[in-house]
Amino acid sequence: MSNPFDDAQSRIREAGARAGLDADTVAQLCVPFREIHMNIPVVRDTGVLEFVRAYRVQHNRWRGPYKGGIRFHPDVNLDEVRALAAWMTIKTAVANLPLGGGKGGAVIDPKTWTEAELERLTRGYVRACEEVIGPSKDVPAPDVNTGPREMDWIVDEYATLTGDTSGAVVTGKSLACGGSEGRGTATARGGLIVLLALRERLGLPARARVAIQGFGNAGRTFARLASEAGFRVVGVSDSRHAVCCADGLDVAALERHKDISGSVGGFIDSACQTNDDLFALDCDVLVPAALENALHEGNAAGVRAKVILELANGPVTPEADRLFEQEGIVVIPDVLANAGGVTVSAFEWEQNKTGEHWTGDQVDVRLADVMEKAAQEVWSVHEELKVSLRTAAYVVALRRLQTAFDARR
Ligand code: NAD
Repeated sequence: MSNPFDDAQSRIREAGARAGLDADTVAQLCVPFREIHMNIPVVRDTGVLEFVRAYRVQHNRWRGPYKGGIRFHPDVNLDEVRALAAWMTIKTAVANLPLGGGKGGAVIDPKTWTEAELERLTRGYVRACEEVIGPSKDVPAPDVNTGPREMDWIVDEYATLTGDTSGAVVTGKSLACGGSEGRGTATARGGLIVLLALRERLGLPARARVAIQGFGNAGRTFARLASEAGFRVVGVSDSRHAVCCADGLDVAALERHKDISGSVGGFIDSACQTNDDLFALDCDVLVPAALENALHEGNAAGVRAKVILELANGPVTPEADRLFEQEGIVVIPDVLANAGGVTVSAFEWEQNKTGEHWTGDQVDVRLADVMEKAAQEVWSVHEELKVSLRTAAYVVALRRLQTAFDARR
């Protein structure tokens, strides 16, 4: 299986060459500035002491504080966190936010942990890296298996340790703890804005058919917003099951089914049962919204969609990317497609620092402005250099990073 950090580095090198970046800039962007390895002591409910392996990787801060989520997952490893951190540097630059890139993770299976254990772990994570995070240093956020609950614990622990009660140390908090309106839906909404902005150029039909892998924060919200915007959601999957219907699924009913049963499986009689069935579904837009490397050499040839919208980070391996390019399947890359999450995170951080509270409408208008601009800029470079949208997005980001680096040396 592809190593995501190797992939991130080779994409930076390729785009760096296309953008005419100097070798020093490319070299610096190919290594994280700082990597923190932690062994977090957590007393399980049984009274047994365990040490949880965890990481914080701070990739680049030329354009602002490191920014990126914390993931709880059994497969978390250093190269994955490095790749995710590098992608954050690119993403914040694509969206032109005053932030850099970082990422964190803890190697646990949260499904086997109680809420009290997760709270002790999250607070332990803050204690283990308190000196290097903070509103002007490194601002974490949610990622896979973390959300407002964990972010609120981080605010509280950080306030206890440092006295900083602004909440600006972390984004993705609950509203009661200083979160922003619109953060919960931002990743999916941003992806939809990008899709709508490029829709005509991509030749997508009215009521385009969408299939979505992953039914968590990003995937589930995208299903709801896309169906409200007139797209037909013809298939979805989660980690265990897939479900499809050519006429379109009733997304609201599917959400209720998932809430009650814990899975999308069994919602209706369905011809597709697995993720690979879902990937091979006859549809216009395929939306991977789960984990890295979902579309690879082994299943890419089966894809029938015209467009792939990467809501997940790194869901398409370089081999699959090449195959899609040969087949004329357009990939809207993660660093553009899912930048809505970090954009509203930046808004949240700004609100915390100024003591403001923006309405949901204000957030949505500003989000649309950022995402539409980013989509247009990436499309222009795609046409200017005759490169894929992914390379174009990297070029947009790398040009901005080069400018920031040049200004300070
Ligand atoms: P989440 O934990 O809320 O949801 C993940 C979903 O993926 C779940 O439905 C899970 O069942 C499913 N899943 C896991 N393994 C799977 C598999 N092998 N096949 C099919 N489904 C599988 O996480 P999320 O926040 O929705 O994040 C999903 C992706 O989006 C990640 O790559 C994350 O980095 C990226 N992302 C999220 C945000 C955000 O704001 N939440 C922002 C940017 C990028």
